[in-house]
Amino acid sequence: MRGKRVWVAGHRGMAGSAIVRRLNREGCDILTVGRDQVDMRRQAEVEAWMAEARPDAVFMAAATVGGIHANSTRPAEFLYDNLAIETNIIHGAYKSGVKKLVFLGSSCIYPRLAEQPMREEALLTGPLEPTNEWYAVAKIAGIKLCQAYRRQYGCDFIAAMPTNLYGPGDNFDLQQGHVAAALIAKIHRAKETGADTVELWGSGKPLREFLFVDDLADALVFLAERYSGEEHVNVGTGAEISIRGLAELIAEVVGWSGHLQFDPGKPDGSPRKLMDNSRIATMGWTAPTSLRDGFAQAYRWYAENLKAGR
Ligand code: GDP
Repeated sequence: MRGKRVWVAGHRGMAGSAIVRRLNREGCDILTVGRDQVDMRRQAEVEAWMAEARPDAVFMAAATVGGIHANSTRPAEFLYDNLAIETNIIHGAYKSGVKKLVFLGSSCIYPRLAEQPMREEALLTGPLEPTNEWYAVAKIAGIKLCQAYRRQYGCDFIAAMPTNLYGPGDNFDLQQGHVAAALIAKIHRAKETGADTVELWGSGKPLREFLFVDDLADALVFLAERYSGEEHVNVGTGAEISIRGLAELIAEVVGWSGHLQFDPGKPDGSPRKLMDNSRIATMGWTAPTSLRDGFAQAYRWYAENLKAGR
């Protein structure tokens, strides 16, 4: 990356801002553009900006994202926005001669009942989890776009599939956010208001894998420099925890010791979502941050930003 012009698309989001933090150590020229200047769902705007900015490399962290509730109640936005953003940036990268593009997906691309841990080869071998299939279908299309542009035009576009992410800059909205951020916000509020019960969704039994977003950024820079190939690459920790276990860990980090109540009327989503990380591990990368350290950092960021009124 040294000396290169690197565009981080979606630099204000959780993943994009972590990529910017990581690239700051690389000695490259980081390019960013705000939503007010370029709406990534508009092809003409994206292509005009890319033609002028002339990036050598692109990290595609721009996406419409959200937790289980957001995904199942805003299917049109999750499908349309993400398909549009992907086709615009990937085609724009081809047209403007981008040398390396790293597309970001998600572990929800795999079939709901894929064999665990989920290997890259499990893609398109079975039906998707219905609560997030809109997002998953768009992200599968993104992987296929990278493959297609590599095959037809020889573009060096690669795809990385991170597991569930958490960290500074997450969306802490209780309705729209993912479980990690929602639980930090709920448990912090319980502590502040002296509440002795926190209500969580589902049964608490689903198993999830959580990756600290700065570890993801590190993996993406690693892949950008060392990987070139058609197959997408999983990025995770290899460790899993139940939703109840996660809530207990966050309660400890926040310093709240009350009762966790589960609402079985709310969906559980996938029963289990553990990535097989052997492909990236064989290349020489493993996630350095422990769950406890990562959640302590995420909580510190949340508490500070809440105080600052952001
Ligand atoms: P997923 O990993 O794609 O299913 O999406 P999420 O990150 O939103 O995690 C959803 C899992 O966490 C489901 O099993 C939910 O039932 C459970 N969960 C428990 N409480 C909450 C909450 O307050 N918000 C969210 N988003 N999920 C919750």
